[in-house]
Amino acid sequence: MLKKILDGKSCAKCRLCCVFDSSDVWETPVFTQEIRDRILQHSPETEFLPKDGGFIFKVGELSDGELFSCPALTEKGCMLGDDKPFDCRIWPYRIMEIGGRRAITLASICEELYNRPLSQLTEFLKEGLAERIFSYAQEHPEIVKPYDEGYPVLMFEPK
Ligand code: SF4
Repeated sequence: MLKKILDGKSCAKCRLCCVFDSSDVWETPVFTQEIRDRILQHSPETEFLPKDGGFIFKVGELSDGELFSCPALTEKGCMLGDDKPFDCRIWPYRIMEIGGRRAITLASICEELYNRPLSQLTEFLKEGLAERIFSYAQEHPEIVKPYDEGYPVLMFEPK
């Protein structure tokens, strides 16, 4: 979905967005039942919790420095390929709720995009991506996260 601005080779080398620590474990993706079942076939020991009609990983408490690696991450990258959850397909764009309104924000840990001018990232949203994100969030409110102030706000959903 972001191929025009995010080179797949950079993602393959980085994988930071697939590994979580105690500070960003709330950022783990939200899965549909279909994708959850696919992950369970690959990693039957994975535990999930329901979230507003979707599913998230049951991670538990992480100690300082402890990492949780997404069970869908393999040595060759994400086992889900092009069927990644929507959350992962739009990364590092995020959809959050701020004061009762949905907004598209940006995760700063993605150096590849965070170092671009915000105007470039916003322009790309205007080429149809923002509409797709807001529309998906309307149908799948489970992917909307509460606002975290470390995330620059790029665009509010039109009223
Ligand atoms: S589902 Fe795939 S892309 Fe998403 S966090 Fe897991 S390994 Fe990464």
